[in-house]
Amino acid sequence: MKCTVCRGPAVIDIRRHNSNFCVEHFTKFCSDQVERSIDEFEMFSPTDRILVAVSGGKDSLALWDILVRLGHDVTGLYIGLGIGDYSDQSAGFARRFAVARDLPLIEVSVPEEYGYDIPSGARAARRAPCSACGLSKRHIFDGVAIDGGFDVLATGHNLDDEAAVLFGNVLHWQTEYLGRQAPVLPERDGFPRKVKPLVRLGEREMAAYCVVTGIDYIVDECPMAAGNRHLHYKASLNLIEAASPGAKADFYLGFLRRAAGHFADEAAESRSTLGSCERCGQPSPSEVCAFCRLVERATPQPVDAPRRRDRVDAPADERVTS
Ligand code: SF4
Ligand code: ZN
Ligand code: ZN
Repeated sequence: MKCTVCRGPAVIDIRRHNSNFCVEHFTKFCSDQVERSIDEFEMFSPTDRILVAVSGGKDSLALWDILVRLGHDVTGLYIGLGIGDYSDQSAGFARRFAVARDLPLIEVSVPEEYGYDIPSGARAARRAPCSACGLSKRHIFDGVAIDGGFDVLATGHNLDDEAAVLFGNVLHWQTEYLGRQAPVLPERDGFPRKVKPLVRLGEREMAAYCVVTGIDYIVDECPMAAGNRHLHYKASLNLIEAASPGAKADFYLGFLRRAAGHFADEAAESRSTLGSCERCGQPSPSEVCAFCRLVERATPQPVDAPRRRDRVDAPADERVTS
């Protein structure tokens, strides 16, 4: 197998692009795809300060690496979720990545700052673990991005993730969600701008990127993921992709180009007018936001209301540590 660009020995084939690449041209392919998404969807400018949510997994670490290689000013944000060994190990991967490259990493521990961990908090609040986790992460991402003065929050959602979510939203005709399924969510009402620069790259490519560039990442899946319906959607889409290379990208990118706009009005209508949560100050449609209600139910005894972090010390010269 020869590299389509230089005819040297190829290390990976990308069937949907009908191409094979050597290490050099594969890493360039990945950077080019990210750059293309940043430009096409107007995600951010070269001078913007970017906060990237890192979990210790392949996608978020690869994203961080690519953005740094492209010359962007990027700070990592790792959230400790208290999911036993999985959290301990994933924190180690995120920290080692940051230290080895002298990159700033902010860390927020849910158990230490808010008094609960995802498994027991979800049980107490009678939520599915991923629901409690998603709510917690969104609250912390938003707070750190806004308080730290970052221009944009970037997440490592890749093509497989986005195609699976789209598949689920189409299966159940969740038109309001379809209207919001974009690789860029603009800043609004006290929420930061959110972007997904990996939407043109799949899971297999991100794992390969980490291998060829020497990024060590946590391979184990989160133990709470079992039963998550998106895993079934991903498996179904992988079967389709194997029989018809490119189908996944056509499905997702074609939706963005041809269909997403049809649902924009429904998404806009469903947006509530937001005030401020009386406890944490974050934007909320009700007096107490969903996150503060989760904290109330998840913590065994009343605790001080979770305050928005006073300030995040993350300028480029004060290097600190998903
Ligand atoms: Fe959180 Fe784990 Fe669910 Fe991901 S799989 S949302 S990390 S609980
Ligand atoms: Zn090559
Ligand atoms: Zn709140």
